[in-house]
Amino acid sequence: MSEINPNNSAPAEDNGEEKDWAAAKAFFDNLKTNKPRPPKPRYAVTIAVSSRTLFNMVAERKIYEEEGLEKYVAHQVEHENEPLKPGPAFPFVKALMNVNSRLRELYPDSEELFDIVLMTNNHAQVGVRLINSINYYDLTIERFCMTGGKSPTGYLKAYMTNLYLSKDSEKVTEAIEEGIAAATMFMQETDKENQLSDTQLRVAFDGDAVLFSDESEIIVKKHGLDTFFEHEKEFENKPLAQGPLKCFLESLGKLQRKFYAKNERMNCPIRTFLVTARSAASSGARVLKTLRSWGLEIDEALFLAGAPKGPLLQKIKPHIFFDDQMFHIDGAKELGTISAHVPYGIGQKYHKGKLIEQPAKKE
Ligand SMILES: [Mg+2]
Repeated sequence: MSEINPNNSAPAEDNGEEKDWAAAKAFFDNLKTNKPRPPKPRYAVTIAVSSRTLFNMVAERKIYEEEGLEKYVAHQVEHENEPLKPGPAFPFVKALMNVNSRLRELYPDSEELFDIVLMTNNHAQVGVRLINSINYYDLTIERFCMTGGKSPTGYLKAYMTNLYLSKDSEKVTEAIEEGIAAATMFMQETDKENQLSDTQLRVAFDGDAVLFSDESEIIVKKHGLDTFFEHEKEFENKPLAQGPLKCFLESLGKLQRKFYAKNERMNCPIRTFLVTARSAASSGARVLKTLRSWGLEIDEALFLAGAPKGPLLQKIKPHIFFDDQMFHIDGAKELGTISAHVPYGIGQKYHKGKLIEQPAKKE
């Protein structure tokens, strides 16, 4: 069922949707342009980013909060020829573009590409500055979704979103509850940022409550590590249930295989990492067997046995690192890793192993 048009009385059949896309494509095919076309959501790996994660809009936000909407819009219009500074999702988006250009070289006619959708509840007048900034950095972002303050979840579904990044943890939580991979991003102190690869997209995932459900995390939190080790040993051959980011890893795998099929495994511009606090000997097998049962590969699996994740991530230098626990996010950010929080699972009720009274509601 289409979520975009609530007045649509007839159910949006696949067929009808297919016709709509065909008509839109035919229209654009008649227009001459050297710009790459956005792919169909059905084939694309769609990444929805909010304007405040793609760009640094901290100063602008302050004007909005302290002086109100009118002053904010006036400021944006006045500065619309001044490009916004990059935000936390910017290096990730840039890296996605690099993967796309490699894919286009190998598969000129394929629509299996990353497609970036900009999600914003900004006033339409602010859109001009966003467009100017996107063009200034030469980003291929043709789809804008101006939600006018409404929940973006319906639009995320309509675009068949594979990953949604926002600064707003409530919207992110809502998306996760709807089964969409999503994470909250925070501003990074730029002087601490690591130098990132501009030829390879590097993505790091935590395991429990990120790629996997929080079923084992619940045991750690409620019964301690020893019970957890016993439990994981006992259920070693029972795959863990999937967590909120599993589908995104799956879509990265789909694109990686396109490079492997052209003999580019050694030179693949996408690399994935599992960075888990689990220890290999006592609880690692279940994780690896779960990934195997899903038919998913991860390029590097790092079992830290409780050691801090920050120093290792500093070596990996991912464009984005996903974790469900804020103290891992803080530790990673502290050492310059761009981190995204997945507000899911029992971990939200704890801080450094201690139960907190109220679930953390941020910002
Ligand atoms: Mg975790």
